[in-house]
Amino acid sequence: MSALIVEVVYRGIFQKNLAARIARGIVLSARKSGRWGIAFGRYGDSPQRNGIPAKDFAIVADTKEELEQNMARYEPKDTDVTVVLDDTLSKGVESWAWYGLQPINRLTVPNGTVLMTSLQSFDSLLKDIHKRDTPYKLSVLRAKASFSGLWVHKEDHTEARILGALAKIAPHFLALDGVSQAIQEIDWGSDLKVASARKAFERLETREVKITEGNGEIPYSFEMPKWWEMREGISIPAIPIGKPKEGGQGYVPERNPYFKKFTTRTMRPVIDFDTCVKCNLCWISCPDSVFDVMPDGTFDAAMEACCGCGVCEAVCPVEHCITMVNEAAFEDNASQWDMWRKDKAAYKKWLLAKIGDKATTVRSHGFRFRGQYEQELVADLEQGGVEIAAGIPGENAAHKTRNVQGGSSIVTGVPEAPGA
Ligand code: SF4
Ligand code: SF4
Repeated sequence: MSALIVEVVYRGIFQKNLAARIARGIVLSARKSGRWGIAFGRYGDSPQRNGIPAKDFAIVADTKEELEQNMARYEPKDTDVTVVLDDTLSKGVESWAWYGLQPINRLTVPNGTVLMTSLQSFDSLLKDIHKRDTPYKLSVLRAKASFSGLWVHKEDHTEARILGALAKIAPHFLALDGVSQAIQEIDWGSDLKVASARKAFERLETREVKITEGNGEIPYSFEMPKWWEMREGISIPAIPIGKPKEGGQGYVPERNPYFKKFTTRTMRPVIDFDTCVKCNLCWISCPDSVFDVMPDGTFDAAMEACCGCGVCEAVCPVEHCITMVNEAAFEDNASQWDMWRKDKAAYKKWLLAKIGDKATTVRSHGFRFRGQYEQELVADLEQGGVEIAAGIPGENAAHKTRNVQGGSSIVTGVPEAPGA
């Protein structure tokens, strides 16, 4: 008797449908493979916030009794497979459901598997994934992260490909034929998706990770109050007022010292302080009070607090002044303004390298215009479809002005009338 426990770590809202499809697909595949299964989401992860790390779980067992035994607890504490649907989650996750930063491989059992969709190399991923004291396997399915929204699903076959990869990782519980049969029968299934699952089964790349490999940083944590230290009533103190940046100038707002939020983002803003016209729009529009006002009147985004929503890029009126860049391109949360002040020429070089790299600035998430997904699917699905740039504010400067010939609405994709 044995069981397979799978967690599916995903970005809240954007991948909610995808994670649910995978978890349900695991259960149906288990039944088709002659096993028992159940899937559930984590109660503490709802309601979800855009980008916030969240989890679904699926348990597959040889017998009904074994399944019931595994269900008799709040949620699994150890998982045989950790499925990660966005490789920027490698930096660790901070969710509604716990406190502090947790390494992505924290629940993975010794010699278990972390299965990730990514275009990065193993070495690059291991720069971000925290070290652990037992070896495990890292499996990579070559693909960009698949993002959509609460009410839309991106038909890029990611769910079928993950199921195919799981058949390779845990064939005793999820036979490839069982997975194929399940995909054919499920409401979203098709023969094409079965073919994708089978290809993923063949092409899955896996390597062992030793205890010496990985990011050696100690994940951020804080001391929880003990039950005997708690007061009888609850009062929630208001957020204190901020303070000047330095020398009585600038302004740094107070922020929640415990909930950092930075693992919520897939992309971060990169700011060109040389071209900033100090219009305040980013500061006013940021939903998370991320911007510090600097003594010279420019605005620096505090990287520990930025959730990566991209609003600042969309509202900034200056072309390429704020550009969203994939989180995988950064090693830390250091201040960009400090870097700029120290050496402006070096900062410019760094900035141009970051915002000039197509691999990290083209984004695929979010519904940007009607027909987008069909365009992406034109190309090889194994590569995650073609890149879509049109209609993205930072990618296409035409969308920063309202009066550009041939510009199209980022909402409808319909060309805007001249002068609109
Ligand atoms: S991406 Fe920009 S607007 Fe969004 S949280 Fe970060 S700094 Fe604020
Ligand atoms: S929106 Fe752009 S130009 Fe305006 S203050 Fe912010 S960074 Fe500067």
